Amino acid sequence: THPNTENSSASRKYLREFLDEMQPNKIREHLRKFTRLPHLAGTEQNLRYAEQIRDEWLEFGLDSVEMVPYDVLLSYPNKSQPNYISIVDQLGNEVFNSSLAEPVPEGYEDTSNIVPPYSAFSAKGQPEGDLVYVNYGRTEDFFQLEREMGINVTEKIVIVRYGKIFRGNKVKNAMLAGAKGIIMFSDPADYWAAGVQPYPAGWNLPGGGAQRGNVLNLNGAGDPLTPGYPAKDYTYRFSLEDGVGLPKIPVHPIGFHDAIHLLKNMGGQIPPNNWKGALNVSYRIGPGFTDDFKSQKVRMNINTDNKVTRIYNVIGRIRGALEPDRYVILGGHRDAWVFGGIDPMSGAAVVHETVRSAGRLLSKGWRPRRTIVFASWDAEEFGLLGSTEWAEDNAKLLQERAVAYINADSAIEGMYTLRVDCTPSLHTLVYDLTKQITSPEEGEEGVSLYESWHKRDNWTNDRDAPRISKLGSGSDFEAYFIRLGIAAGRARYTKNKKTERYSSYPVYHSVYETFEIVEKFYDPTFKRLQAVAQVRGGLIFLLADSQLLPLDADQYADSLRKYAHSITQLAQTHPEEMKVYEVSFDSLFSAVENFTVAARDFHERLQTLNRAECVRVMNDQLMYLERAFIDPLGLPGRPFYRHVIFAPSSHNKYAGMSFPGIYDALFDIEHSADPQKAWEEVKRQISIAAFTVNAAAMTLTPPT
Ligand code: GLU
Ligand code: CA
Ligand code: ZN
Ligand code: ZN
Repeated sequence: THPNTENSSASRKYLREFLDEMQPNKIREHLRKFTRLPHLAGTEQNLRYAEQIRDEWLEFGLDSVEMVPYDVLLSYPNKSQPNYISIVDQLGNEVFNSSLAEPVPEGYEDTSNIVPPYSAFSAKGQPEGDLVYVNYGRTEDFFQLEREMGINVTEKIVIVRYGKIFRGNKVKNAMLAGAKGIIMFSDPADYWAAGVQPYPAGWNLPGGGAQRGNVLNLNGAGDPLTPGYPAKDYTYRFSLEDGVGLPKIPVHPIGFHDAIHLLKNMGGQIPPNNWKGALNVSYRIGPGFTDDFKSQKVRMNINTDNKVTRIYNVIGRIRGALEPDRYVILGGHRDAWVFGGIDPMSGAAVVHETVRSAGRLLSKGWRPRRTIVFASWDAEEFGLLGSTEWAEDNAKLLQERAVAYINADSAIEGMYTLRVDCTPSLHTLVYDLTKQITSPEEGEEGVSLYESWHKRDNWTNDRDAPRISKLGSGSDFEAYFIRLGIAAGRARYTKNKKTERYSSYPVYHSVYETFEIVEKFYDPTFKRLQAVAQVRGGLIFLLADSQLLPLDADQYADSLRKYAHSITQLAQTHPEEMKVYEVSFDSLFSAVENFTVAARDFHERLQTLNRAECVRVMNDQLMYLERAFIDPLGLPGRPFYRHVIFAPSSHNKYAGMSFPGIYDALFDIEHSADPQKAWEEVKRQISIAAFTVNAAAMTLTPPT
């Protein structure tokens, strides 16, 4: 393959200085100062931190830093009518009420403005009824409930455990099944690591802790009231009834102490074994309680308000010396549910240190070839709003000029090794760069990050390299990659997936995400955060300063072939229908072959490139390669998901799906009411994929 990373010796020397300048202690200081107070989107404190970041980025030496406001729909609990869940007896007495807040951790007792656990954008209401337990609330869980167990949840309140998929998909599934409310709880099976104490003695989630989070189904829209256009003062706003992705039923999150009370007397069928969590209850699925408690019902009391609120992105720039009209973006969010110790400030501290280090290089006379844009996004937690509004505001510039977007959300979610998700054209660059970074692990002095990562997470049996995954969504790269078609990637430190079964990390989106949990448990030396800073920063540096863009079209060809094979295999689970409806993947494989040849020829020409005026031509071909996968019409029913190769899974926003149009057309096709029509749609999606891959191949051929 072709790393294209043979840069001038001056640039190589600056890269070394840039990486060496990033210091664990500085990252520690940044994290300390930006996690002292809660800074929810739309609050005064989050504006204060934005101003502080702007001022410090200017001091570090960026050429310009501006605050960019938008007015978007946010959602907050009503301060005078708290949200809670009750068990009511036949007389209407509340015999149990869920807690109104999490116990505040030591040292933070006097902190005000800690928002209690809630589901942002929940509908208001007081639904009352019987509970049905539906495991994780995934599509397959509802299929099993309805098709195998014969349970209908119409007019019921469903209770599901957190984990496996994005919570917004659970809410959508509950709504479609007819539920009138949904309760989500953190089960120790998913949020408790073996042999670890609850916070503050360890990093597990205490029983009184609960996961906040938005429950939207935006499908890439950004602000629910202004889809497609930036949410400015003159912008037309939809009414709340017409807002994109807002749930129609009440939703509320609880911790496992409260969940025990709701689950312990449930009656009905015994659950399948894999529906059992780790609490000392039966996990019977209901509906409702056992005979002894049959007269008791569950009532949700939800009074959360939607409110159009001002948010602020901070945008900093280093003007490119030779190609100022080419942008490399490093962006991550600043808003947090409470303190944001891990999410997002471990990432924001890393960006801050990257900016500081870039400023030092500028003072030594360095200036990157291309423009670097640093972004501190607001309101990510409310549906990726700040980043998506800015993408809408700047869409025309970005589609012409953006080279790559690197995301900088939480920099750590475990203590094991590196995790990278990125577009295939960045694979080679990631491998190259991580060979130039030192492992942060104790006892691995002199070992590269690449080796350390490879040893812990080898990709597959057929490829001997560290694992790199597809991008999904659930963070701010979404509008850049999936709507605009800008090459994108993310990197963070992660847990050992083989031994640690829990979802995300135990204290995710709780009040226990403090500075101290990072300092005491996740990264006491701050070397893991330093390594992540070096990866994120190094990617930005090489994308901005290399003469030839370090993007690899050959890797894209390899990935396309892999994805084409796996979607074909999926279709071949219906051999009869494939024959009857004459479904063939030949056109897709021939497109992949054309792409493979075009990519190989392109990189051969690139290696023997000698005329300087051709550099810009071929760099533009590389930059626009990702753009070539955009279909302006978008995916069926999802107009803002326009990438034909990658989209967030329709069943889990966090997961990436390849050839999503074909996948969705094939999904559950055996239960389709009109098989003829369903298979026609499969054929249409295969042709769109084949056309798009061929069209992308053409962009790699010589211009004349
Ligand atoms: N990262 C946030 C979460 O997981 C927001 C994700 C989203 O709205 O896509 O809750
Ligand atoms: Ca908008
Ligand atoms: Zn985050
Ligand atoms: Zn978050």
